[in-house]
Amino acid sequence: MSFALSIAAEVRSGERTAVDVLDEHLGRIDTSEDEVHAFNLVTRDLARHQAEGIDAAVADGRDPGPLAGVPIALKDNMCTRGVPTTCSSRILSDWRPPYDATVVERLAAAGAVLVGKTNLDEFAMGSSTENSAFGPTRNPHDLSRVPGGSSGGSAAAVAARFVPVALGSDTGGSIRQPAAMCGVVGVKPTYGAVSRFGLVAFASSLDQIGPLANSVADAAATLEVISGHDKFDSTSIERAPLDLTSQLGLGIDGLKIGVVKELNAAADTDVQVRVDAALELLASAGADVVEVSVPAVTYGLTAYYLIAPAEASSNLARFDGVRYGLRIDGDDVHEMMVNTRTAGFGDEVKARIMLGTYALSAGYYDAFYGKAQKLRTLVRRDFDAAYENVDVLISATAPSVAFEFGDKSDPLAMYKCDVCTIPSNLGGDPAMSVPFGSGAHGLPVGVQVLAPPGGEQVMFRMAAAIERLGAQEGLIR
Ligand code: GLN
Repeated sequence: MSFALSIAAEVRSGERTAVDVLDEHLGRIDTSEDEVHAFNLVTRDLARHQAEGIDAAVADGRDPGPLAGVPIALKDNMCTRGVPTTCSSRILSDWRPPYDATVVERLAAAGAVLVGKTNLDEFAMGSSTENSAFGPTRNPHDLSRVPGGSSGGSAAAVAARFVPVALGSDTGGSIRQPAAMCGVVGVKPTYGAVSRFGLVAFASSLDQIGPLANSVADAAATLEVISGHDKFDSTSIERAPLDLTSQLGLGIDGLKIGVVKELNAAADTDVQVRVDAALELLASAGADVVEVSVPAVTYGLTAYYLIAPAEASSNLARFDGVRYGLRIDGDDVHEMMVNTRTAGFGDEVKARIMLGTYALSAGYYDAFYGKAQKLRTLVRRDFDAAYENVDVLISATAPSVAFEFGDKSDPLAMYKCDVCTIPSNLGGDPAMSVPFGSGAHGLPVGVQVLAPPGGEQVMFRMAAAIERLGAQEGLIR
């Protein structure tokens, strides 16, 4: 087993060294990484250096931080100073950021040890990690299947016990959906709760960083460390870091749960059975469970696939062969840019840039982008109405268990993997996935807990209850 909080307790008390913890995890990486391919890069030397620093702090009687000696992995779209940050794209190969993302600084200050950068769908566009320029990641539960995506490398690294905690980014479900498919906990915080400074932007109004972990408590502890205001992110909420650990044992007696009719209908029966089982147990544990309708969530995919590509087309304009990474020369600057972007971006990224540019172009802007923004407002309005009557909402996280490689070659089939997760990004709401047993082929199923903006405390309270009930039923390892 590999749990962040027990590692930190042992390292802080001097019972175990951070170097010993690191060696244990590197050992597992050496044994299985060849078949899983969770990492784009394993930062062995940096990790050893950081672990030795933690051990020195403990020996000197200095406070090594709440995550002392905890090995962590970062999705490879978060900037690490001097360490390659590729977004799993050829266009950023060999690019080394000159600065650390705020989350990287905060994790280091908390004593965490950076073990590596994890694989993703190129620029976080995808739901299976098959869109990586460096080859796919495989699901540790079944190597013939995808880990989900786009944070598939982070989810697989946690599921394979390469690290107890990893960070991912979630624009339309990219933390929660792979967490569900790999049987780990995954959290998308409220928009603005975690700084995006140093996260390579995909769709800036939707992107959020969050943790993936083997327990709700580990996810809570990590989110406490990375949350809180950051002056380097203009969308960062002016609020103290989240206090979540205090909530985990409070129980759910009297809490009101709304089951989102439209989202549950999107899941296959195999997944629905597990979600229903969780709801029954929650009801018997004292929660009040009612069915609710959030009609506008059915527009989620449509709105997202205009807004996200529109923002991406603008954000990705900076990869021009001049400022970052790859350059393929040409006879003039225009030809150089065309050559660089043609060779540097993969097919899905190109499709999104074209779609987004089209949706933003003069004459089409109101019909596509403007309409999509109106749908986004409807999603917010319907969530607000639902939360007048309930504390949290619950649905499936992903409509199915992990699928086989190549199974979703039709883009629309792939996009539908995020039908349950996208509405929370459009609304800016927090949402998380908690593993709850298995479905078809013995593969993991995740239950999604959704909360109103700023509602992380009640969301974690509910997630902890789901985890406890699952453990009592023998559904959680
Ligand atoms: N799968 C969705 C997409 O391809 C969401 C990705 C994400 O959350 N980064 O855009």
